[in-house]
Amino acid sequence: MRFISTRDSLARAVSSAYAIVHGLAADRGLYVPQYFPAYFPNDLAHKGYCELAREIFGLYLTDFSRVELDALVRAAYGDGAFPRVAAPCLRVGSFALLELFHGPTCAFKDMALAVLPHLLTLSTVKIGRDGENVILVATSGDTGKAAQEGFAAVTGCRVIVFYPADGVSEIQEQQMLTGNAANTAAIAVRGNFDDCQRGVKDILADTAMIKRLSNAQMSFSSANSINFGRLLPQIVYYYYAYGQLLGKGFLKLGQEIDITVPTGNFGNILAAYYGKRMGLPVRRLVCASNENDVLAEAISQGIYNSCRPFYKTASPSMDILVSSNFERFLFEMYERSAPDLSAAFLQFTKTGSLRIAESAKQNWRGLLYGGSVTQEAAACVMREVQEKHNYLLDPHSAVGWGLASSYYDEAEGVPMLLVATASPFKFPGAVLGALGVSCVGLSGQAQLKLLAQRTGASIPPPLAALAGQSLCKRVEIKPSEMKQAVLEVLGI
Ligand SMILES: *Cc1c(COP(=O)(O)O)cnc(C)c1O
Repeated sequence: MRFISTRDSLARAVSSAYAIVHGLAADRGLYVPQYFPAYFPNDLAHKGYCELAREIFGLYLTDFSRVELDALVRAAYGDGAFPRVAAPCLRVGSFALLELFHGPTCAFKDMALAVLPHLLTLSTVKIGRDGENVILVATSGDTGKAAQEGFAAVTGCRVIVFYPADGVSEIQEQQMLTGNAANTAAIAVRGNFDDCQRGVKDILADTAMIKRLSNAQMSFSSANSINFGRLLPQIVYYYYAYGQLLGKGFLKLGQEIDITVPTGNFGNILAAYYGKRMGLPVRRLVCASNENDVLAEAISQGIYNSCRPFYKTASPSMDILVSSNFERFLFEMYERSAPDLSAAFLQFTKTGSLRIAESAKQNWRGLLYGGSVTQEAAACVMREVQEKHNYLLDPHSAVGWGLASSYYDEAEGVPMLLVATASPFKFPGAVLGALGVSCVGLSGQAQLKLLAQRTGASIPPPLAALAGQSLCKRVEIKPSEMKQAVLEVLGI
């Protein structure tokens, strides 16, 4: 299997190791596989997470040996970092709910970031690059800590995280500023996630910066979902969910499902689409946005327009106006025409907006649906679901639930799989507010305790453990100072 850039009309192909180490193609396009390998085993219901991951990885990472794949999958998912059922799928109300927050930082980003460091280290060796890997991360809240955690024990890697200064929950910030290994740093940027993401992409493509690092035996890489090494591990849990539903008798082998994903950068839902292309029986994908409804509009009207007010909401990890991975989806909808896509994104870079070709739009009819759910509506969902089903949703998953409800029709007989992306305990203030419990003036830790008390649910141990730890110094910069900050952290 080789990988091509979404913007390269010559379709020059690179190895998976090269794509993973470089993250972004030199033409600023994203690496995509040359084709989608077929995969749908008859015994899916009996496959464990590690086995599934190894088999799916093997289809794409053809430059890795079976022994290597086995080792990296076990290092990521096999050593007690995740429960035995890494991503449990349960029935809540009419939906099948896939819980992706049982990793070390309590959000779905762990599913990929537990394995990416191992992938990256091995890939670096494979392409014969030496020196240190400098991983730049833009985070809307959850990727940051997941990357710090995933890379903590990995030698030869440094991690620098940029997060929006006022755009993450108190618990999220606390996570990023506590208990970190010496090779990781987190810096607040006075701006939103898009500013962080743009800054990181600029640095990754900055030839002077690249040279400077190279002189110091270092090179850049990315742990954002622009990196194919982030997307690949996310395909696995859609299969795993399907397998669990088969095992519980909720599905017959081959029966189609719909999937709803609370979406920001379009990575998680794209992995579900890749799964469909590989043969997972998926009918519809439902893309849920909050007030930042760029994708909802792009999907329904064909205009992808990031020039609009930015809203800070109770679901901060979805407060995004430029969804990088949407480009990978559009690449498929443009029937892999790199010149057309490249022209469209040139327009997008210049004006912040692009009109999607009618033919491309036709290609997602019946497949991709989008919509937005306000924070008020999501808060109602949280309260209702708690009251009716005694299940606590986080504010992101509640956005998904809200939209899934409007697309689900029991009479159609197509089960709805809803992806739960974070533990409600990462956002205790918003969840308590939704439940009608006042928590004004309470610290993050006090909110956690109150939430546990009120709901009878227990605080996930990684979040409870934050209480006793001291915070490292908070650093805040302007977006224009990101390059300088990188050089300072690296001491070059
Ligand atoms: C990152 C994140 C999302 C958005 O996922 P994308 O892959 O960026 O679309 C949704 N919910 C939570 C809790 C997240 O951390």
